[in-house]
Amino acid sequence: MKLAVILPAAGLGTRMQRNAPPTSTPTAAEVTGTSRKQFMLLENAPILVHTVRKFVASPLVHDIVVAVRADDIDWVADMLHREARGLLGDLRVVAGGNTRQESVQNALDSLDADTDLVAVHDAVRPFVDLDTIRRVVEEAQVTGAAIVGIVPVDTVKQVSGAQAGGAKVRSTISRERLILAQTPQVFRLDILRRAFDLARQDNFSGTDESSLVERLEQVEIGVVLGSDRNIKITRPGDMDLARLFFEQETARR
Ligand code: C5P
Repeated sequence: MKLAVILPAAGLGTRMQRNAPPTSTPTAAEVTGTSRKQFMLLENAPILVHTVRKFVASPLVHDIVVAVRADDIDWVADMLHREARGLLGDLRVVAGGNTRQESVQNALDSLDADTDLVAVHDAVRPFVDLDTIRRVVEEAQVTGAAIVGIVPVDTVKQVSGAQAGGAKVRSTISRERLILAQTPQVFRLDILRRAFDLARQDNFSGTDESSLVERLEQVEIGVVLGSDRNIKITRPGDMDLARLFFEQETARR
């Protein structure tokens, strides 16, 4: 079984920089990278490096493809090749796109044809654990498609109006049938390629791979329960939590 991992890491970090929702025009800090969470340092190494280390440590992983902004390819490739020495196969760095979906598409286009399974994982989730990686890959080996998710603890409301202010509650969505989707999300290569082809054809955009695969007929996506420590470092306060989790991980080793 040949497993490739795609790590989209080409985001501009709009939510890290701003408290308000992002607009379409990035600020100077976003473009120059001072707000880009994948490169923020956690104990002297960028978050992206911590994430790469997790997948290098997994005996299931063959290749890793990281998507970054074109200007960052050279220095990121230099930095990551030092981390990738324990990897079974290759580590490649490719150009990302303007959306997460485009970044994953570019990485997907670069995969070897003999790849069996593809795991897509947010570069900004460095606290994924090896057991979760193993369980979601094993599920996808059997079913062709599986994602990691957690059960929500908050009550979920549907609203109208802007989320950032002035929203009005319209209904409550029962928690019993909800899962908060995380990554890794793992698919057979042919399934993921079909899903991306269909999305492109229909101009569909989604915020994760599962939402693209869900549009295919006759593909059922399994859910493997994950951990609330597998946070997506998104807002400034998340770095405080990340430092705490990192200390705890180091102490356990
Ligand atoms: O923006 P979001 O929180 O969905 O980002 C999730 C992951 O997707 C991050 O690791 C980010 O760097 C990546 N991303 C990307 N290309 C983009 C936007 C986001 O690779 N254009």
